[in-house]
Amino acid sequence: MHNKPPCNWLCLLCALLISGCSQFTTAPSLNSSSILIKNAIIVDGTGGLRSTGAVRIKDQYIVAIGALEALEGEQIIDAGGLVIAPGFIDTHSHHDVGLADNRDALPLLTQGITTSVFGQDGGHSLPLQNLFDDFDANPSAVNFASYVGHNTLREEVMGQNANQQASSAEIAAMQALLKSEMDSGALGLSTGLEYEPGLYSTREEVLTLAKDTAKIGGRYISHMRSEDRFVWDAVDEIINIGRETGMPVQVSHIKLAAKGLWGQSERMLGLLNGARAEGIDITADLYPYEYWQSTIWVLLPNRDADDLEEIKYVLDELTPANGIIFTHFEPDPSYVNKSVAEIALLRGTTEVQTLSNLMKEAQIWSAANDDRSAESIMGRSMSERDIETFAQWPHINISSDGGFQGHPRGYGTFPRIFANYVRGSSVLSVEKAVEAMTSRAALHMGFTDRGIIQPGFKADLVLFDPETMQDHASIRDGQVLSSGVEKVWVNGVLVLDKGEPTGARSGQVLRR
Ligand SMILES: [Zn+2]
Repeated sequence: MHNKPPCNWLCLLCALLISGCSQFTTAPSLNSSSILIKNAIIVDGTGGLRSTGAVRIKDQYIVAIGALEALEGEQIIDAGGLVIAPGFIDTHSHHDVGLADNRDALPLLTQGITTSVFGQDGGHSLPLQNLFDDFDANPSAVNFASYVGHNTLREEVMGQNANQQASSAEIAAMQALLKSEMDSGALGLSTGLEYEPGLYSTREEVLTLAKDTAKIGGRYISHMRSEDRFVWDAVDEIINIGRETGMPVQVSHIKLAAKGLWGQSERMLGLLNGARAEGIDITADLYPYEYWQSTIWVLLPNRDADDLEEIKYVLDELTPANGIIFTHFEPDPSYVNKSVAEIALLRGTTEVQTLSNLMKEAQIWSAANDDRSAESIMGRSMSERDIETFAQWPHINISSDGGFQGHPRGYGTFPRIFANYVRGSSVLSVEKAVEAMTSRAALHMGFTDRGIIQPGFKADLVLFDPETMQDHASIRDGQVLSSGVEKVWVNGVLVLDKGEPTGARSGQVLRR
C-alpha cells in the first residue's frame, strides 16, 4: 500500500526507552504536557479497520496509541466516541490566494484539512522563499507546501512574449529559475497546460523541465493539456513524462469533461494501471463535483470567440448553457451567479451568440484594463458515475482544487466525500475515504511523517463524526462552512474546538 516511513528520532528514542512505540505508560518524562485523547474510534489513515482507544500527543508528535491509561498531570480530552483520523491533506489547493488574510483558515479546518499543497496548475508564488519566510514568521493554522509552476516560470522568463514557443535560451533560463525555486524547498514541478502561456509549450519543453525536476528529487503534477477534446493525448503526455523521468507524476483533478467521454472512466484507469504495470509511478487526485471552475477560455482551445460552430459544439457536448455559471465577470458584475442560459434570456439572444458575446466582452475588458482575470465560470461537465469510479481507484487521493472564493469545493470537498460517497452511494468506507485523504495523499506528495496515526508522526489530527459530516456550500452559494468536524490539531496544537477556531496558528511550511 505504501512504504513504511523511516523511524525518526522520537520513534528511536521510544524504542530505546520501552522497546515499543504503542505503550508509553511508564515514561515519566512525558506527563508534563502530553495530551490524551481517549474514548475515540481510531481510523489511522492506512485504510485498515478502525479500532477503539486513545491517542497520546506530546509537543508536535503522536507518541502512543491504543489502550492507554492517563498519566499524572496529563491533559485529558474525551473524544466522546467520535472518529479520530490523521488531518486531511489537500494535495491541490488554491487557498494560497487569501491565506495571508485568513490565517485561521476556517474553511479548511471545518473540512478537517491540516495541510494544503499550493503552486498548482502551473502557477506559484514567485519567489517561494518570500512566501515561506512570511509564514515561518507569521504562521497560519494549517501546514502548507508548494510546487513550482511552469506558467509562472514562463511568464517570468518570456514576459510579453510568453504566448508563443520558447527559444532554447528561454528554456535554459526557465531551467535556472526552476532550480533556484526547487532549492527553496518546493515539492516539484506543476503544469497548467490548458492555460496561457503553458499551452504554447511543446512536449519537449515540459519534458526538459521535468527531467531537471527529477534530478533534484522532485515530482510532477499536471493540469493536463485537455480534459475533454484531447484528453487521451494529454494522458499520453503525462505517462510519457513519468516514463522518461522516472519520477512520480500525478494527474490533477482527474475528470472526463465531455458528454461523449462519460462512462469512460474505466478506460482512463486502464491506461493509468497499464502505465503503473510498466513501473511508472502515476497517481491522480479528485474533487467530488460535477462542476469544474476555470476561465471561460478552457472551453475554446482555439481562443476564437467568433467561431460559432465551435461554441455550438461546446454547449452541445461539453457544458450546457444552464450549466455555465459566472463566479466573476468584470464587464458586468450583475452576471455573477447567473448562467449563460439565464443571461441569454435577459438579452434576448441565442445561447450560442450570448456565449460568444460574453467572451468578446471579457476580451475587450481585459485589453482595456491590462488584466487577464476578467471572468471565471463554473461549468457542469462531469458525470457522477465517473466520479464514483475514480473515487475507488487505489491510487487516487482527494483534493479540493478550491479557494476562499468561487466554487463550493473550497469549503465543502472533504465533508462531501463522507456525505455523498460514504453515506450516500456507499462506494467508500470511512476507512477508505480517510486513507484517500491522508496516508495516500502524503505518499503522493512525498510527506513521510504525516497522514498516519502512528507514534513518531506529526500530530495533525481531526476529530469528527462521519455520520453527520456535511458540506453546505453549493454552486450558487459557495462560501458556507461545512459541519461535523469537532476538533482539529495541527502539529500537536488544538486549532479548532467545537467547530470554532481557537486562535492558535501552529501550521508549518513543509519543505521537500
Ligand atoms: Zn487545474
